[in-house]
Amino acid sequence: MKKLKNSLKFLLWLIFFITFASEFVKIVFELNPDFGHKPLRMANAFFWSSLFLIEMIMAGLVIYFIVKYPARRLRLIILSACHFTVILALPMLLDSWSWTCLLYPWPHSLQAFDPATPRTAFYVSVFMGFAIVPLITYKWGAKAFCGYLCPHGAFFSETYGRVFSPKPMRFLRIAKVIPPAYFFLMTAALVAVIALPGSIYPLRSAQKLVYFFTAELFYFVIGIPLLGGRSYCSLICPMGYFIRTMVKCKRGNGE
Ligand code: SF4
Repeated sequence: MKKLKNSLKFLLWLIFFITFASEFVKIVFELNPDFGHKPLRMANAFFWSSLFLIEMIMAGLVIYFIVKYPARRLRLIILSACHFTVILALPMLLDSWSWTCLLYPWPHSLQAFDPATPRTAFYVSVFMGFAIVPLITYKWGAKAFCGYLCPHGAFFSETYGRVFSPKPMRFLRIAKVIPPAYFFLMTAALVAVIALPGSIYPLRSAQKLVYFFTAELFYFVIGIPLLGGRSYCSLICPMGYFIRTMVKCKRGNGE
């Protein structure tokens, strides 16, 4: 039985590894148009099919954990509603992946500011990032967004992350340096985009690459299996830092 469990874990990890390795190939093809359209089309098709497979596996894990752990039911239901709406349903219905920015607002991403993002998605994302997140954090603390709404760290730590045994978090020094530095860079990027709207093109390209290497490749292939479900949240995420800082400010005000 233990052997079967370990084989399934490995298989799940392998699916993540292959999916994000294919995204890496896709990025390389996109950066080098000389490779031609055919390999890019194939890499695209492979990546999106694998991603869809991952989403289906995550849906299966949600059902399994809802049945097995009734105490986590509410959190899983809310997280699944957020994740599958913003990551799957909305982008598919509205035929644009830009809609994922609704629950990936600044400072998690610059996607809302991407010229390709529909204006409605931009307004909702800005409202979410600058009004709703601070408001719910002020009222309920970090657990509001990072516990019940985030379609990334919160969702994957409760699904894919639960497949692996919990690990004590180390690397505390890195955790003190990377999230504030990342947040500072995202703030500088936001100021640059507001002051010089044309700067969004190079900044967005750079941000997409950083996001891919940290929130996807590192988190899914190394972070979750070896360091735990919240590895990206603690070691990298600028949004988590933003939220934790708001909580500290509230405590500092004596509330
Ligand atoms: S720390 Fe970042 S990734 Fe983790 S739950 Fe919070 S916002 Fe999401």
